[in-house]
Amino acid sequence: MGEEVKSKYAYERESSWKKVTEPERRKIDDFASDYKKFMNSCKTERLCVKYLEKEAVSLGFKDLADAKPVPGERFLIKNGNKNIILVVLGKQPPTQGINFIASHLDSPRLDLKPMPLIEENNLAMLKTHYYGGIKKYHWVNIPLSLHGTVVRKDGSTVDISIGEEENDPVFVITDLMIHLAQKAQGDKKLLEGIEGENLTLLAGSIPVENKDIKEKVKEMALTKLNEMYGMIEEDFVSAEIEVVPALKAKDVGFDRGMVGAYGHDDRACSYPAFRSIVDFEGIPEKTLLVFLVDKEEIGSYGISGIRSRHFQNALTRIHEVYGSECRQSDLRDILENSCCISGDVGGVVDPMYPQVNDMYNAAKLGYGIILEKYTGSRGKSGASDASAEYMGKVRKIFNDNGIVWQPGTLGKVDEGGGGTVAAYIADLGIQVVDCGVGVLGMHSPYEVISKADHFQTYKAYMSFLKDA
Ligand code: MN
Ligand code: MN
Repeated sequence: MGEEVKSKYAYERESSWKKVTEPERRKIDDFASDYKKFMNSCKTERLCVKYLEKEAVSLGFKDLADAKPVPGERFLIKNGNKNIILVVLGKQPPTQGINFIASHLDSPRLDLKPMPLIEENNLAMLKTHYYGGIKKYHWVNIPLSLHGTVVRKDGSTVDISIGEEENDPVFVITDLMIHLAQKAQGDKKLLEGIEGENLTLLAGSIPVENKDIKEKVKEMALTKLNEMYGMIEEDFVSAEIEVVPALKAKDVGFDRGMVGAYGHDDRACSYPAFRSIVDFEGIPEKTLLVFLVDKEEIGSYGISGIRSRHFQNALTRIHEVYGSECRQSDLRDILENSCCISGDVGGVVDPMYPQVNDMYNAAKLGYGIILEKYTGSRGKSGASDASAEYMGKVRKIFNDNGIVWQPGTLGKVDEGGGGTVAAYIADLGIQVVDCGVGVLGMHSPYEVISKADHFQTYKAYMSFLKDA
């Protein structure tokens, strides 16, 4: 290709680091520092909601009940303790359309079973059921922490958070030692090496003394649980306790250009989405909305997932801030006139496994926010597949605002695939496209992103809220 054609007509990916000046580098690092702090405090969707609600309130976001119908009004709507909607009212009413970013707060993990505590061969163990798509072998022999909420027999609740502090104990799923693994594991396929039912945590080893009972170690564990949380075994039935890696978010590499952490999918998008609305300065033309939602990793089902009626209810409530009832036609107008970015992470080329990608269409780490026209698998099945017109609109906003972006697809045709909340937003009749940070090692206990891509995502979301 001639130089002239190349520079004028050809598309070339651009590095997110290319035009980064010293002051810009400081902004990138500051944003990453805030993000690492968030990631270290928020290992579950509940903890994210608690943290972000507190932050939003400190930045002037009111409760929905106190919201006034004035442009620039900032308020939030919660759905239980697992998702949160942030709103900034625009000069135009919501029926003229809302600029909206949706992103999920839940990440792949292990959940304790309803009756988790058992004793096996004189050790106390906790049984789990994995949540979302994981490679089970990732979860053995790493430090794990527990976070969750228990509703006790008397109806009172107690929060559990153990394994993150320097002096906290952690929990471990032990793998079979290599010396004895040949028959039990050696002939299995990699992804089947560890079975789901064996994702069972070591949780105690000391027996109670002087008692003529069978399960002395379990008895000790139950005694400790009661001392620490005032709970009894039956309380596990009305508990949600999540098992996550007890690992801290850290810079990765000599140049500190990447961040390693548990839960980048999808907090690497939900955090910039949150920041893009709370940092928005001035009064927007259109109403802005960021929906941080739960249950994406298991198909967006359930009361706190995006398929729940909750979102449409929230839209009617936003309309009602203006004092009149939200008629069916008002809701129709809001849905039809709104624009959405589904802020979810995308795959990038793993340097050791380029063969799973179509390298002409694969996104790369460090080359900007990924604009993904479609997800899905095997013939785009399950994809919302954004229109040329909508892709054109979002691309123009990014170009006009100097955002470093790149197109992306999830692997070669028929190699695999995945989905996001985009399809469910499209079901409501809202224009939507997937747009988010590239992740290496997605769905592993320690995922990696580029700091520059992350900062571009924040800027991209900000420009979308302003200009869509
Ligand atoms: Mn995701
Ligand atoms: Mn995911």
